[in-house]
Amino acid sequence: MENLKRIALGFACAFGVAGGANTASAASCLEVVLTGVQGGPPVFQGQAGAGTLVKYGTEENGCSEVLLQFDAGRGTTQQLSKIGVPVGKLSAVFFTHIHSDHSEGLMDMMQLRWHFNSAGPKIDMVCSEDVTAPKGHTMSCREYGQNLGAALIASGEMAQRLSENPKRLPGGPSDLINTMTFLGKDSAQTVWESGDVKVSAIQSRHVAGHASYRVDTPAGSVVIGGDAGNDTPAPPRETSTSAQVEALSNGADIVVHSVIHPIMGPDGDSGFPPPIYYRQSTATDLGALSKRAGVKHLMLTHHIPPLGAPKQGPYPVKKGGLSADDYIEAVRASGYEGDVVIGPDLTKLRLVAQ
Ligand SMILES: [Zn+2]
Ligand SMILES: [Zn+2]
Repeated sequence: MENLKRIALGFACAFGVAGGANTASAASCLEVVLTGVQGGPPVFQGQAGAGTLVKYGTEENGCSEVLLQFDAGRGTTQQLSKIGVPVGKLSAVFFTHIHSDHSEGLMDMMQLRWHFNSAGPKIDMVCSEDVTAPKGHTMSCREYGQNLGAALIASGEMAQRLSENPKRLPGGPSDLINTMTFLGKDSAQTVWESGDVKVSAIQSRHVAGHASYRVDTPAGSVVIGGDAGNDTPAPPRETSTSAQVEALSNGADIVVHSVIHPIMGPDGDSGFPPPIYYRQSTATDLGALSKRAGVKHLMLTHHIPPLGAPKQGPYPVKKGGLSADDYIEAVRASGYEGDVVIGPDLTKLRLVAQ
């Protein structure tokens, strides 16, 4: 879309807007902030767990009318505090899946919200309905949301806080969640809407109940792929990426996707378990997907391995650690010529409607 202009990339970029302040302030904008780029359950140098904040509004209000959090890994609340986004202001939280590295940050986020915002509003929690995995267990985002306060209730902490302020909701943080589940489908369906902002979802493969999302706004569009992988779980296959995510990404301005570097593959001597490698999307295949789908900006997150990390959990990384350029080089091997964004927590990208 020619009417979009990228004006800020990354952490340290100043916002430069041509023209008078009044003209600029009226423009609508979409901002995407990677709240946590850690890939999987390990922790490395304080990086937060997986999460992406999507903001929409006008330049005048800092793109802050609608604040949507996609996944909420460890440390999400802290990272949001660094960019001045109180958890009480979030409009909705969406889960691609409830692997703990994508969801464990919801607990302290909701406890904090309960502590200070018990009067509401509730937060919409949008995710797949319960799905039973092939091995028989059920992945239930709903149960996760409804049981957030269980340990705090059992410990007496909830009763203590209620005794200090009886206006708090008696059931704890779960009382502040408005659960909105959907039946996962192979084609996009609208799952959340507010004003000019529409969120659609598609079912994608990773673990039972995994979904990928697309946010459409007048200032641009962004796809949140999550940990999606290919329906064929291992080679031989054409690509490691998801056909469903590719359909969702068609013509999108931005794709945010979990990435694994090919160095972690079975040929790379890392010892990383092949089934886990194969269920993620590689940097090169994400470049190819972005090229086919006409995506302008590919934002890599959930880095496996983290930038500079000598190990992914217990698994050693060849070369002693990868740089951003190593990831970009792997993307470019696909022939993708669009913008590749990779950086630490709070790396961001803003689009402004012209
Ligand atoms: Zn993950
Ligand atoms: Zn996962």
